[in-house]
Amino acid sequence: MPIPSGSGGAAATYETGVLVVGGGIAGLSTAISARQSGAETILIEKAPIEGRGGNTRFADAQMRFPHEADEFGPRDYSVDDMFEDLMRISRGRANPDLIRTLCENARQTAEWLTGMGLEWEKGYPHTAGYRRSPRSGGQGLVDLLYRRLEGLGGAVAYLTGAIDLIVRTDGSVAGVRARGPEGITDIYASGGVVLACGGFQANVEMRVRYLGRFADSLILRGSRYNTGEGLRMAIDAGAQPAGQWGDYHSAVLDARSPKIECGVTALYNYQMGIFVDRQGRRFLDEGEDFRDHTYVKFSKFIVEQAGGEAWCLFDQKAYQREEFARAWRPVGPPVEANTLKELADGMELPAENLMDTVANFNAAIQPGEYDLDRLDGKRTLGITPPKSNWALPLDSPPYLAIPVTGGITFTFGGIRCDTSARVIDTRGQVMEGLYAAGEPMGEIFYYNYPGASSVIRGAVFGKIAGAHAAARSPA
Ligand SMILES: Cc1cc2nc3c(=O)[nH]c(=O)nc-3n(C[C@H](O)[C@H](O)[C@H](O)COP(=O)(O)OP(=O)(O)OC[C@H]3O[C@@H](n4cnc5c(N)ncnc54)[C@H](O)[C@@H]3O)c2cc1C
Repeated sequence: MPIPSGSGGAAATYETGVLVVGGGIAGLSTAISARQSGAETILIEKAPIEGRGGNTRFADAQMRFPHEADEFGPRDYSVDDMFEDLMRISRGRANPDLIRTLCENARQTAEWLTGMGLEWEKGYPHTAGYRRSPRSGGQGLVDLLYRRLEGLGGAVAYLTGAIDLIVRTDGSVAGVRARGPEGITDIYASGGVVLACGGFQANVEMRVRYLGRFADSLILRGSRYNTGEGLRMAIDAGAQPAGQWGDYHSAVLDARSPKIECGVTALYNYQMGIFVDRQGRRFLDEGEDFRDHTYVKFSKFIVEQAGGEAWCLFDQKAYQREEFARAWRPVGPPVEANTLKELADGMELPAENLMDTVANFNAAIQPGEYDLDRLDGKRTLGITPPKSNWALPLDSPPYLAIPVTGGITFTFGGIRCDTSARVIDTRGQVMEGLYAAGEPMGEIFYYNYPGASSVIRGAVFGKIAGAHAAARSPA
């Protein structure tokens, strides 16, 4: 239950202008924006200094934002294009006001990061060219922003986890009670509290409660510290749950990945091969769309419908391509063999099934030009499931097989916010003094995920929340 303001019981009490809970991209963007707007800030981070940065530090931190052709991609990507992609991939369920705000602010927020010293790689091929990667990945991004925040005089308290909200008698949020090295502390914030402390992906109890019993064994790709306190605290204080609480972001992972904080062990090259289940049968359309629009749903399909694990198969035509290595950071060597029979033996699945699957697949491939840069329509005909694009026969040994499974990155369920990142209560009213940015914000992602949009979401709404809360804080 939220704590009434001034109720005592804390070992120490602090006051600030804007209190930020969590130090990943959303929290750092919030705190920097609040400092730039002139407010005092304290950022509390549950992790020790070496574990700071949340999911963001494990990510490549690719970001999509509108841009013109030739800047780093072959075609224009407008605010409307981005809006349509994000709405389409959520099957129309995302909150259009939040998505419009995200798309309209994405580019200038990316430029704001650039202005702080962020350097970018050249554009990323085969995903319609709309995403860019920080040169030093998520870890470099996080380190850069901590340096900037400290340079601006923002305070950071590590090993300090928020455990509850402090509310005034009028229902507005006055601060946060936290557990840290000094014991229990109360931190009051005149401008507001911004919850930027992730989803509940690292909390196995909540995972099973909201996602289902299969979810207890999912590989956790990112931070162990995102255990859902922000969501719980906000909802206990009256915030409106919003978004798809029964769904989550994931990726097709090498099944041998570490079970926790495995980082980027995803296979992003499956569109160059085929998936087979543990019986050696194909079970989905590997070429349905650009991998950016399929990797999340395919990984869930593997976990929930293909029995938890599957295999991704390639031949040398795929393996020899430059893009193959770029889209795969091996956790271990693939199973490799000169014949499909030997490959099946190495994979410990029925050889006849695998040979049958590959023969049928190869025979169904239609003529056409193979082009990974577009939906090339080079497809199969007469088999189920089809492969709708990028269908080449598997006929160039040695063949390779990599074991795959699904993991969890972050959860989609969150709390309702307006376009200023203010939290909305169950009456539909703004909760004065409470904001959310990044993963705790609901109504952005549903069912699937448009690649490269979570880091930019955290940056956009963190920047907005920081400036808004700072404006409420007396100078
Ligand atoms: C391997 C991997 C690759 C990814 N690749 C991409 C990509 O390329 N592009 C993209 O857009 N997204 C990517 N993502 C997703 C993206 O990184 C995250 O969704 C995004 O960075 C989340 O930012 P955030 O600030 O909301 O949360 P986080 O970065 O997770 O930060 C939350 C912070 O809150 C802290 N915290 C938690 N609870 C408390 C508490 N009670 N009190 C105080 N602090 C608390 C945590 O320690 C953490 O530091 C990837 C994720 C992973 C794991």
